[in-house]
Amino acid sequence: MPTTHDSHHAAPVRAAFLPFHVPSITDEDIRALVQVLQSRWLTTGPRVRQFEEDFAAFVGSRHAIAVNSGTAALHLALEAIGVGLGDEVIVPTMTFAATAEVVLHCGATPRLVDCLPDSLNVDPDAIERNLGPRTKAIIPVHFGGRPCRMNDILDIAARRRLTVIDDAAHALPAAHGGRKVGTIADLTCFSFYATKTITTGEGGMVTTDRDDYASRIAVMRQHGASRDAWKRYAAEGSWYYEIVAAGFKYNLSDLAAALGVQQLKRCDQFWEARRRIASLYDAGLSDLEEVTTPPGDEGLQHAWHLYVIQLALDRLTIDRAAVIELLKQEGIGTSVHFIPVHLHPFYRDTFGYTPDMLPVASAAYQRILSLPIFPDMTDADVWDVIEAVHRVVRRHRR
Ligand SMILES: *Cc1c(COP(=O)(O)O)cnc(C)c1O
Repeated sequence: MPTTHDSHHAAPVRAAFLPFHVPSITDEDIRALVQVLQSRWLTTGPRVRQFEEDFAAFVGSRHAIAVNSGTAALHLALEAIGVGLGDEVIVPTMTFAATAEVVLHCGATPRLVDCLPDSLNVDPDAIERNLGPRTKAIIPVHFGGRPCRMNDILDIAARRRLTVIDDAAHALPAAHGGRKVGTIADLTCFSFYATKTITTGEGGMVTTDRDDYASRIAVMRQHGASRDAWKRYAAEGSWYYEIVAAGFKYNLSDLAAALGVQQLKRCDQFWEARRRIASLYDAGLSDLEEVTTPPGDEGLQHAWHLYVIQLALDRLTIDRAAVIELLKQEGIGTSVHFIPVHLHPFYRDTFGYTPDMLPVASAAYQRILSLPIFPDMTDADVWDVIEAVHRVVRRHRR
């Protein structure tokens, strides 16, 4: 029988549930979308052009090519460098499945590699161990927004003449060694999925300094047609186009791009807010021996897309799933990033991966927990999360 003296049945930390993520949408964002509707031009057009120009200026790349998802960005980047049948591409296992699936869509094989135990970013030594005669490219994923060890990775790529495609789905804005993510690798792929650091609902971008990659991606995002539709239908355009390759339907709509233009203006402001939340978490959780906070951002710009803690399970009587459930009962939404790719049935059964083949990621997977981190969170929200984590841990100490 629950009583008011039983702390397990005390009122939850929050009466109103705090979701894991809420996108930041202003009246100005909404007005920008209404304007697109009023213009009657909904598909790829002037707002996509604007978003691309603004984005290239923001990261400092020569080209920015907008597409309708981060997955499409990765697929077209691999296509542009000519990854095909029989090739291998190095993919960190600690990522979302998209990073691996696009390699398969090119007819190539993803070589899943292990991560470092603290940052959960790809381990450069593991990359080295997985190189082979058919390796064509490396896709570093800047996990949670923290740039990978790019000096080591670029060094490996230069020695072996490999192309580097950054999966920067988490890394806007981020920088490493004074260089912005978006200008470091040969090609960089961003995502504007609803939970990412800026959003267009669904969307993505490829940045590159190479003219040949940029023009190939621009053609392949729209059926392999030699001209963009909006140029054809604009007053000065022509009805004529030529299909030069079997392309894809990966173009971004002007509706989505209009939101992107607005969100990009607030990108640095969003980042300041997330950085502040991360430092509050650091301060509020550092005294808990049952919790390891993520490594700091000394010497680099961390986008703080995710704040991933690791639970010291040997100090707790419950597992991660129970912690998630108990935090939910306290009114706090959380998530897990990621189920490592090699543990998914398709990759396990197709390629024969076992958990012990990628031991660091397999072990980390049991311990990782992503706490809410989005710009509209108030300091009181952050302290509620901290209080809830303290409560759950305190009640289940070993
Ligand atoms: C979100 C994400 C993607 C895919 O982006 P979409 O826009 O959802 O297609 C790729 N890689 C990582 C690491 C991601 O988190």
